Amino acid sequence: MAVRRLEAAALDALFGALRRRGYTLVGHTLHDGAIVYDELGGADELPIGWTEVQDAGHYRVVRRDDAARFGYTVGPHAWKRFLHPPALRLWRAERDADGGFELLDEPHETPRYAFIGVRPCDIKAIGIQDRVFMGGAHVDLDYQARRAAAFVVAVHCTEPGGTCFCASMGTGPRANAGFDLALTEVPPPGGRGDPSYLLEVGSERGGELLAELGGRPARDDEIAEGDRRLTEAAGRMGRTLDTHGLVEALRRSLDNSRWEEPAARCLACGNCTLACPTCFCNTVEDTTDLTGAFAERTRRWDSCFTLDLSYIHGGPVRTSMKSRYRQWATHKLATWQEQFGTSGCVGCGRCITWCPAAIDLTEEVAVIAASAQARATRRQARVTQPVAGGKEAGDAA
Ligand code: SF4
Ligand code: SF4
Repeated sequence: MAVRRLEAAALDALFGALRRRGYTLVGHTLHDGAIVYDELGGADELPIGWTEVQDAGHYRVVRRDDAARFGYTVGPHAWKRFLHPPALRLWRAERDADGGFELLDEPHETPRYAFIGVRPCDIKAIGIQDRVFMGGAHVDLDYQARRAAAFVVAVHCTEPGGTCFCASMGTGPRANAGFDLALTEVPPPGGRGDPSYLLEVGSERGGELLAELGGRPARDDEIAEGDRRLTEAAGRMGRTLDTHGLVEALRRSLDNSRWEEPAARCLACGNCTLACPTCFCNTVEDTTDLTGAFAERTRRWDSCFTLDLSYIHGGPVRTSMKSRYRQWATHKLATWQEQFGTSGCVGCGRCITWCPAAIDLTEEVAVIAASAQARATRRQARVTQPVAGGKEAGDAA
């Protein structure tokens, strides 16, 4: 479908059209010094004229010198908090007259969210969680219902952040699918005043809104300007990650002593996993009231950085910090491929920004991969030109 050009006021029309269809609008807003996801009353609650400065262990919101509505990337929240909530009651039960338990009816209404401003990396992340929760033999019914009800308004990224590396992961800065509508924000000539938007339709229900949004068909030069901004954004990522041969390199590096370095700094706080849009580990918690007459089970987010997550048969499997950091990094970038057929990382950079110890996944993995490559090269050299001697220096235990 042809690209349309909208004025900034069309965002109000979009919000109104979605609300009339019964959606709860969720998007970026400024709260407590961060750009977070929350329910939005209108387009004026977007962080107009704000952006973020991000680096390893560092996040600040700062003023822009324009009125951009989407002039930032991703903050501490991920959309999973609405599709796979941090806490979800699974059942409630009450003791009955015979001393047994009776399950209570659980009032349940699936929320209908319209996600406003979903970045391409996060669209990929939602797709990855779709595979996790709905792609196997056991479908998560709550996730399935929330996902089916969700309307996605994407925003292609023209302002990559300091810890972004979606271009390396092939997940951005343009979203090619997975949205109902997609916007590209284009600043006005000279940068002052309101931006305009290029609008693409990605689904039938997205197309049904067009008549209510106004605008006109975009000219070729306007589309070219949007494309130029996205191409330019791909070259301005704050981080890069060379993924060539990475899965194999990580598989060969489980015994690399370099894992000790991030492990020595890691606080096992779990921030990286909670902020990550693809991490899905959870636990269940059973509670009763003091009388013992009432019980309930709640599913809560968990993290592979906790000892409890791998606790089986009298103890945790991954007792050392090194084993937990290695498990997380190798699962994200290597074994996730075997399990789900994709990488578990979309290059959003949240784990880097929100790590209080400033541990940088791209840096750690690059060093490990280079070490694995050096080992492989040395081994190859030994095969082609045998030399006397024992174990090589650098073959870490
Ligand atoms: S591992 Fe880090 S960069 Fe990759 S998707 Fe998760 S939070 Fe984003
Ligand atoms: S955020 Fe950093 S310190 Fe916390 S568990 Fe993750 S790697 Fe460790």
